[in-house]
Amino acid sequence: MGGFFGVVSKGNCTMDLFFGTDYHSHLGTYVGGMAVCDPEIGFDRSIHRITSTQFRTALESAAARMKGTVGIGCISDTDPQPLLVCSRLGNYAITTVGRINNGEELVQRALKDGHTQFLERSGNRGVNETELVASLINEKETIEEGIRFAQEMIDGSLSLLIATKEGIYAARDLVGRTPVVIGMKEDALCASFESHAYLNLGYHTLKELGPAEVVFITADGIEPKLPPLPKKRMCAFMWTYYGYPTANYEGVNVEASRNRCGRMLAENDKDKNIRIDYVGGIPDSGTAAAIGYANASGVPFARPFIKYTPTWPRSFMPQNQNMRNQVAHMKLIAIDELIRDKSLLLVDDSIVRGTQMGETVDFLYESGAREVHVRPACPPVMYGCKYLNFSRSTSDMDLIARRCIVELEGCVPSDERVHVYADASTPEHAAMVERIREKLKFTSLAYPSVEMVSRSVQVPEDEICTYCWTGKE
Ligand code: SF4
Repeated sequence: MGGFFGVVSKGNCTMDLFFGTDYHSHLGTYVGGMAVCDPEIGFDRSIHRITSTQFRTALESAAARMKGTVGIGCISDTDPQPLLVCSRLGNYAITTVGRINNGEELVQRALKDGHTQFLERSGNRGVNETELVASLINEKETIEEGIRFAQEMIDGSLSLLIATKEGIYAARDLVGRTPVVIGMKEDALCASFESHAYLNLGYHTLKELGPAEVVFITADGIEPKLPPLPKKRMCAFMWTYYGYPTANYEGVNVEASRNRCGRMLAENDKDKNIRIDYVGGIPDSGTAAAIGYANASGVPFARPFIKYTPTWPRSFMPQNQNMRNQVAHMKLIAIDELIRDKSLLLVDDSIVRGTQMGETVDFLYESGAREVHVRPACPPVMYGCKYLNFSRSTSDMDLIARRCIVELEGCVPSDERVHVYADASTPEHAAMVERIREKLKFTSLAYPSVEMVSRSVQVPEDEICTYCWTGKE
């Protein structure tokens, strides 16, 4: 997925940029980078891999060297960024978040015109997508016109920051799937993906950009460039899984929304007469919902297994799926006293492929658990995300829900049939949930509805993206 941070200041902005970008480290594990501009010297930039070294360590010496009044930084799960661009619109640094599904088509279109080229193998999968975005922007007469043109040409999603010598353009994607928020303190403004990234640096929130909104920020203030558009589809998974607990999206805190979701799951179980000894959460993103469940149900919260954090940095993410599963297993250590002969209820952020949850539950049974009830904090994931480079991105057929539908139907179902299974009011949906429960050997399984997710994030259903659960655009 990735995240970005930018600062424009009357003094040297580098340390604010360094720490502000570092606070996005939970959003990506591939590369981190920073670019600054000193009005006298011009641009300077540093990019490092963060697959086995954290951003702070990787960029520390660069941060000590760099100097400028305007800067942008990023954590990227895809291509190296920020890029420095020399164009007819002037020199600038650019960083992007989103996804381009028609990248190859756009590259061929640009090459056919004969007025551009791209660096060979500069991106993770060929042409660097941020370079492609810069090329689209440069087709227009102004940067803001170029941003809107690029957003309209792209099938997917595009939010970005562009740093010029004078300030920073901040643009949110056309339907506001990902956030961009502006912070302010004396003599400096920042633009950030995550709203918590600037709090310890002394900034306060000035405004969240609306869908498609483009602004230009300087150390003196904020200049509107393109107004927000009415259609909004904020990614609901930002609250459920991606976002850090301290972040707010649409003014709603992640931890608090997960807590509310857990409470609602407990209310749904009120009349089911399930006897549970402990409620536990799959760390980290399942924990807040588990606390909500425990508080609402009166069943004690416990941690029957704990993540061994000292030597397993978040950024250690092997490319190979088997190795990833092995690492996920090695990170968690069981506590016999809280598991043996106990009936446990586990809350996780979601069930995607089902592999990790299945292994965790097997492990709990092997460790002596009597029963394991499971409550995911979002509905069954039925469709792969086509808007963001979701680190858990997977083909539709890898999803446990889809595999269960194939088993129930005896063949690969049509799109219409998948829609029937996605509808929580149908018997097909109930049969699919039961098949998932059986397959993963849960004692019981219950999902929240989309309406419950909407209530927990306190944003109307038609203003959040729920595509991966409903298939509805
Ligand atoms: S499809 Fe899912 S993960 Fe992708 S933007 Fe929509 S809610 Fe977020």
